[in-house]
Amino acid sequence: MSLQIHMFKALQDNYCYLIHDQASGLTAVIDTPEVPAIEQALADTGWQLNYILNTHHHWDHAGGNLELKKKTGCQVVGARADAERIPGIDRQVGEGDEFRLGESIARVFDTPGHTSGHIIYHFADDEVAFVGDTLFSLGCGRVVEGTHEQMWTTLEKLRDALPDPTQLYCAHEYTQTNARFALTVEPDNPALQARAAEVDRLRSAGQATVPSTMAEEKAANPFLRPDSPGLMATLGLAGADPVAVFAETRQRKDKF
Ligand code: ZN
Ligand code: FE
Repeated sequence: MSLQIHMFKALQDNYCYLIHDQASGLTAVIDTPEVPAIEQALADTGWQLNYILNTHHHWDHAGGNLELKKKTGCQVVGARADAERIPGIDRQVGEGDEFRLGESIARVFDTPGHTSGHIIYHFADDEVAFVGDTLFSLGCGRVVEGTHEQMWTTLEKLRDALPDPTQLYCAHEYTQTNARFALTVEPDNPALQARAAEVDRLRSAGQATVPSTMAEEKAANPFLRPDSPGLMATLGLAGADPVAVFAETRQRKDKF
């Protein structure tokens, strides 16, 4: 448990994270939405940047890669499947690979759906995962490049693989809107009702709703619950397969 996490805001609603391995003194940033915000975070912590860990190629995640690399000499780690779209990539990683930040070890998962080359980083010993735009609190990423089937396969894989206590650090503060939508598709879920109330309280106090845990998301996030009878009933899809339920949920959210 030697990983320190410094969370900060960038752009309109992005979250960005510096992570620091205390044993080795090595530091990485999860994505590069905005260089000045990252430089401020480095100044605040006194940490020196060694790595950029990209989740995917979108500009609000990899847009600062080249400038930061030039300024700090850091290495860029990104998806093998998307190497040509990750600016400045030095090290390509994919499903099952390990990334070592000193003594802190992340396992990489390929999570296609939002983009075809999205990846996430799971530090199992520290019980944290950096999930980019794949899984949000009470939501999931828009299916921009993949298919609904691909996105559901990704989310089901994470639901099975990440232990319940895992803290999920996503890349955007979208939770309050996600909660409003989720209540339209699973209004009778008490875990969702409780989480939505907590989210309202946190947001009105100006606080972040991130991270949440895998256990909380399994209980309340409709995008992880296409096998929920209540959700299926609201959608008029009783007995349908999870891909169809997921796809209908995602399409409704796209129009919400
Ligand atoms: Zn994105
Ligand atoms: Fe994003």
